Amino acid sequence: MENTDMSKLAEKLYKERDLSDAELEMLIDDGGADDVLFGYADKVRRENYGDEVYLRGLIEFTNYCRNDCYYCGIRRSNRNVERYRLTQEQILDCCKTGHSLGYRTFVLQGGEDAYFTDDRICDMISMIHESFPDCVITLSIGEKSRESYERYFRTGARRYLLRHETADDEHYRKLHPDELSLENRKRCLFDLKDTGYQVGTGFMVGSPHQTAKNIVSDLRFMQKLNPDMIGIGPFIRHKDTPFAGYESGTLEQTLRLIAILRLMFPYALIPATTALGSIHPTGREQGLKAGANVIMPNLSPTEVRELYLLYENKICTSENASMCKGCLERRISSAGYSISYSVGDVKRKGADKG
Ligand code: SAH
Repeated sequence: MENTDMSKLAEKLYKERDLSDAELEMLIDDGGADDVLFGYADKVRRENYGDEVYLRGLIEFTNYCRNDCYYCGIRRSNRNVERYRLTQEQILDCCKTGHSLGYRTFVLQGGEDAYFTDDRICDMISMIHESFPDCVITLSIGEKSRESYERYFRTGARRYLLRHETADDEHYRKLHPDELSLENRKRCLFDLKDTGYQVGTGFMVGSPHQTAKNIVSDLRFMQKLNPDMIGIGPFIRHKDTPFAGYESGTLEQTLRLIAILRLMFPYALIPATTALGSIHPTGREQGLKAGANVIMPNLSPTEVRELYLLYENKICTSENASMCKGCLERRISSAGYSISYSVGDVKRKGADKG
C-alpha cells in the first residue's frame, strides 16, 4: 500500500479508536506510516497521562514451574535451569529496597510453583501489605481457581497480570502442551476481573506461527475483556526450548503494536517491557515514544536474575536495584518523559469506565 493510504488508516484509528479486521491486518503488517502512527499514539498518551511514566518493581520470586510452555526458558522440561525460590525474608528485603527507591507497586512474578500454596502466597501478601501499607501488590503467578484469586484479593492483592498469550485457539495449541487451554486462561482473566482486580493481559509479538489475523483476534479479545494493563513484548527464543530455532519478534512490529494498542485503548497502562529492551539497546525508550507509559524495574536479588531466564539476552541481569533505578531515570528523561512515583492507577474516564 502507498504510505499515504497507511497514514489514512492511522488517522482513522486515531479518530475512531477502531478499524475493520482487514484494515487492522494491513496496519499490523505495513510499517509505511509508523511515524504518523507513533505521533498519534504519543498525542493520545499525553492527553490521558501527560508525560508520566509509572514504575512497577518486579520481584521474580521463583523459577520453579509445573507448566511446559514451548516458548519459555523456565518450562519444567528444561533440565539446564538451576531452580530457586526466594524466602519470605528475601522477598521482604526486595520490597524494602524498592520502597526506599520510591517504588509503590510490587509485582510478584513466578512460575507456577506448587511449593507456594495459597497459604504461603497469602502469608507473603499479608507480610508485604502490613509492612508497606502505602503500596499496591500485583501478582503474576499464573492460572488458579476462582477461590484462590478471591483469597489473594481478600488478603490484600489488588492487581493481577496474566497474559492470554494468543486469543486464537489453533495458535494457542501450537504454543502450549495439551494440558493447558485457552479456555481456562480466559476463564482466569474473567474471574480476576469479577473478583475486583485491576487486570493486565497481553501477548508476545512474533511468537512462532503467529499471523496478523491472530493479532487481530488478540485485539478483539481485549476489547471484550477491557483490561487495565496490556503488556506486549517481542518473542525471544531460548536455546533450551522447542522454539530454539525460531526467529525473535521484531522491534518494529512491537512498537507498531504498542501504538495501535494506545489508540484502541487510550486509558490503558502499557509497559515498555524488558523483552523490548532486550532486543534493542533503546527498545524501551522507543516503546515510550510509541505510546507506552509503564516501566517495570527489576528488584530481584542480582544473584537470581540470571536464573529467571524466560528468553536469551535478557537485560539487567548483572545490575542491582539501585543501578536499575539510575539507568531508568536517565532513559525515561532522554525519551522526553518523567517518572511518577505514585501507585499509578489506571485512569479510565467517560465511556472507558468498565
Ligand atoms: N507464570 C506466570 C508468569 C509468566 S512469565 C504466568 O503464567 O502468567 C511472563 C510472560 O513472559 C509470559 O506471560 C510470556 O508472555 C512472556 N514470555 C515467556 N517466554 C518468553 C519468551 N521466550 N520471549 C518473550 N516473552 C516470553
